[in-house]
Parts: sequence; structure tokens; C-alpha cells
Amino acid sequence: MTNSNNKIPQAPHFPEQVTGMYILARALKNIGIENVYGLVGIPITEAGYMVQGQGIRFVGFRHEQQAGMAAATEGFLTKKPGVLMTVSSLGFMNGLTATANATVNCYPMIQISGASDPTMVDMNMGTYEQLDQFNTAKPLVKAAFRCSKAEDIPSAVGRAYRAAVSGRPGGVYIDMTTPALGQILNREDAEKLLYTPVDVYSPVAPNQQSVERAVEIIASAKRPAILLGKGAAYAQVDGKIKELIEKYNIPYLPMSMAKGLMPDDGPLSALACRSTIMEKSDVVIVIGARLNWMLSFGKGKWNPDMKFVQLDVEPQEIDVNVPIAAPVVGDMGLALDAILDKLSTVKMSADPSWVTSLQAEAKEKNAKFAARIDGAKTASPMNHWTALSAIKPILEANKDIILVNEGANTLDDTRDAVNMSLPRHRIDCATWAIMGMGIGSAIGAAVATGKSVVAVEGDSAFGFSGMDFSTVCRFRLPVTVVIFNNGGIYNGVGVPMDKTNDPAPTTLDINARYDKLGDAFGAQTYYVTTPEELSKALTESIASKKPCLIDVQLGADSGKESGHIGYLNPAPLQDITV
Ligand code: ADP
Ligand code: MG
Repeated sequence: MTNSNNKIPQAPHFPEQVTGMYILARALKNIGIENVYGLVGIPITEAGYMVQGQGIRFVGFRHEQQAGMAAATEGFLTKKPGVLMTVSSLGFMNGLTATANATVNCYPMIQISGASDPTMVDMNMGTYEQLDQFNTAKPLVKAAFRCSKAEDIPSAVGRAYRAAVSGRPGGVYIDMTTPALGQILNREDAEKLLYTPVDVYSPVAPNQQSVERAVEIIASAKRPAILLGKGAAYAQVDGKIKELIEKYNIPYLPMSMAKGLMPDDGPLSALACRSTIMEKSDVVIVIGARLNWMLSFGKGKWNPDMKFVQLDVEPQEIDVNVPIAAPVVGDMGLALDAILDKLSTVKMSADPSWVTSLQAEAKEKNAKFAARIDGAKTASPMNHWTALSAIKPILEANKDIILVNEGANTLDDTRDAVNMSLPRHRIDCATWAIMGMGIGSAIGAAVATGKSVVAVEGDSAFGFSGMDFSTVCRFRLPVTVVIFNNGGIYNGVGVPMDKTNDPAPTTLDINARYDKLGDAFGAQTYYVTTPEELSKALTESIASKKPCLIDVQLGADSGKESGHIGYLNPAPLQDITV
């Protein structure tokens, strides 16, 4: 074995023999896995050492959910599955949250969990950490495998990889049972089990008829627009998207994680004209996005005569909420190649005033937005916009920093304020709009890319993953965490109901000193109360390339309930304060 430090010697008395754990580590290495995120304990502790022994980086976390968020983020950024390793029962469940989230968001990842002997679980014998993990995971993932024999491990890993990245990417589960992990095999026999799967991602081209239909509709458009989703960012076909937009002068509207695929402040960016695009376009080319809740399900506000062209790898995504005039089902790169090829042979009919009117609207809206941020500069105590007035220019000047962002108002306002100019540089709560993805995602982004990361977090959002800031510190990652502390969920001014001395349900702690949490783990920390202090702290933090934590003191009244999506809150039947 290659584990040179020999902390956990592999079958010391029988060097010609190996265990299932060793085969697992070799299988992961063999398929090109470079990082495993996880949290060890029974029955996978030695497997963690074996993984390290193979020269794979083992990033040990404090909570499995965060390890899973890191794996998912690596998947999104690299198109290779991120790997999460968890212990049985609760560890498995904690990690499964992230794996389910990856499936929902179409990020490729593989959760490998230690599991009790299924013959004992099935007989309900009350074995250690007993849980039918395989069947628990199944409905939440793209594919699930259970290894009861060590001989099956290389096949499970290879097939999990293929399932995670092929078609619509997603989360895959491997139930790695204790008998399989502990099974002893002759080294020679074990090595023979390893194989390198061929063609793990096999792009499928759309059919020619669908391309012709799409091109006919695009060419007929008077007011065309392109909607870019995170599937477009994931596909890494940046040059083809640029060509479609620039050669045919089509304005684009990016979804949150597609920001930067084309520059947010580019001449054809319609970021400031979202409503106009929805109401006035006659053809919208949906590229790797879903017409779900974030896009009003493609109805209501949208032009009722709109013709949607939709490029997606998943046939079942077509017609989900609104009939799609021209579906182009297949790999994004091949679909764009075919469309670009065919478009060069047709005549476009776009109205030239469409782009100029959008540009005029964007200019006006952007000026208003700039004035709003400018006007917030002097607020004391700071509000979200005051803090963003300091952060915006710094992040926009450091284009290659990956921005991780979660919260309610912190998410919405940061997304609106900070222009992105490079693809796959913004990672956020995504489709489920969940809290608790921040620190794990920041770690995954830093590990997978080697780039610097800034995570802008609401104080409540940070609470879900804060302890894993210690992981940032132990692995000395170039991650700066910026916490907007307004003392609560949405804000810190909630009034408790009568007859209680407890805080209101939304109230956290406006006086919490999150910077001291950073001190505990040896980070470079700051507590700031003005935009000038925040500018200085963020500039220094980024330059240091070290783990840094900035506690940004806001006023407790900054921010509103549910941020921009308050309309989703059910209205109370009566005034809740009586
Ligand atoms: P957003 O939230 O940005 O709208 P979604 O996650 O809702 O993005 O949609 C992403 C879409 O992209 C999914 O429907 C998914 O099937 C699709 N997709 C992901 N990867 C590819 C790919 N390589 N080729 C084509 N479509 C893809
Ligand atoms: Mg808050």
C-alpha cells in the first residue's frame, strides 16, 4: 500500500491481503477522484486514512451537511462528481440533506456512507446505528447502490460516477456496508477488480429536426432574449454562448448562478430589465434553466404569446409548466453547435430598436440603483446597502474571486449589488433557496479550484454552518467569511408574543461577536461598524490569502421579512401581535 506514514497499517501481518476499505480508496483514485469531503467515525475511519494514503485529499469536516455542500460545489465547478464520505445513521442523514440538494440542483456528487450489515437491518435486530439507509436515500438521489461484498466496490464506484455526471447530473448514493468494508481479499485478486470505465460522460446530440424548429423560431423573433441558467454555467460551453449572444445581438438575462457567464454589465446584459424581458419578448431561448418558481413558472407576468425555445439535457424538463414551442433536448455543447451552425444559414428578423430600448432602460435603472447604494453610504448604524457599498467595488475589482452567498436580505441584496464578470464564480442557495450551504460551499470552491473565496453570509445563515469555519482554518484555505449581523432571521426587531420573556422567533443576537469565533480557530478577524472599516478589512483579508472572518455590525432594523420573497409567506389569520 502507498500510505507512507503508516498510521493505520493495512493488514500488517498479511501484507499480501487487503480490505474492502483499501479497494474503495483504490477505486476512487483509479477513477480520478482528487478530493473526498467527510467526517469519519465507525465504520469508515480507516477508509479515511486509506483515501489519504492514495494521495487523495481528505477534507475532514465538523458536520456532514457541510462536507456534502463542499462535494456538491466541487461537482458544479468541475463537472466531476464531488465525493462525500459519511458514517452510518445520523452522519448518513446529515449528509443526505446535501446529496438531495445536489440532486435538486443538478450538481454531480456521490455520497458514500458506512452502513450496518443489511441482513441485520432487514431483520430489525437492533444492530449498531441501525437504519435502512439504502431505501432512505433512494427517492432523493439519481441512483443508489448497495455494496455487500468487497468485490462489488469498483463497479459501484464506476457506476456511481457515470450516473452522477451523465444526462442531468445529480446526487448518487453508495451504501457501503460494514461487511464489504471489512472483507479481506488477496491483494492480487483485489487489484484485478479495478477497471477504468470508458466514456463516463457521453454527450448526446439533439435531433436535427428539433434544431431546425428552434432556429426557425429564433430567426422569426422580433424581440428575442436569452435566459441563462446554472445548467448553462455548469456545461462549460462559455465560448458558444458568447458566440450566440454576440453574433446575433441577443440580450441575455442570467439566473443567479449564471451571473458572470456573460458579464453582468455587458452591453447586451438585460439584468436590469427582467420584467421587460418577461412581458415584451416574443421568443426566449431558455438555456440550462427551469421555468420554476423563480421564473413565475413561465406564466402570469410572461407575454402570453411567448414562444419558448428550451435547451436542456433532460427530456422530462420540457413542458413542465408551460408548453415549449421548440425543445432542443441534448448536451448543451452539441445543441449550441447545431444551432449556431444552422443559424448561420438563415436571416434574422429582430427589430433593431429592441436592443437599444433595453439598453436605455438598463442605463436608467442602473443609475437609480447606483444612487440607492450611494445614498446608503452614510447610514449609521450600517444597513445592508451601506455594507454593500463597501463590498461591491472590491469584489468587482477582484473578478477571479468566487463569491458564495446566502441569507435572505443578504442574499437578495448582494446578488443585485455585485456584478459578476466570470463564469462559475457565484455559488448560492440555488433552487431550494435553503440556508446552510455557505461555509461548506466556500470550502468546496477553494479546494476544487485553488481560488480565493469570499462568502457573504447573513448572521442566521452563518449559524447553520459556522462551526465549519474551523475546517477553513485547519486546511488554511484562502476563504474570507463576511457576516452581515442584523441580529436576526430577516432582521433583529421581532417583538415576542405576550406572556413570554423569550426572544421573538426571528430574533438572534445583535451583539454577538462572530469575530471571536474566528479567533478561536486562529483566523485573521475583524469587527467593523463603518463602510470604511469594512473596505479596509476586506481588502486586507483578500490580500492575505488566509482564513479571515469579518463581523459586520448592521442595525437590527436592516432587512425585511423573507427578503424579496415575502409574497410566499402565508398571511396570518389575525394580527399576530395580539
Ligand atoms: P437555474 O436555477 O439557474 O434556473 P436550474 O437548475 O433550474 O437553473 O436548471 C438547470 C437546467 O440545466 C436543468 O434543467 C438541467 O437539466 C440542465 N442541464 C444541466 N447540465 C446540462 C448540460 N450539460 N447540458 C444541457 N442541460 C443541462
Ligand atoms: Mg440576519
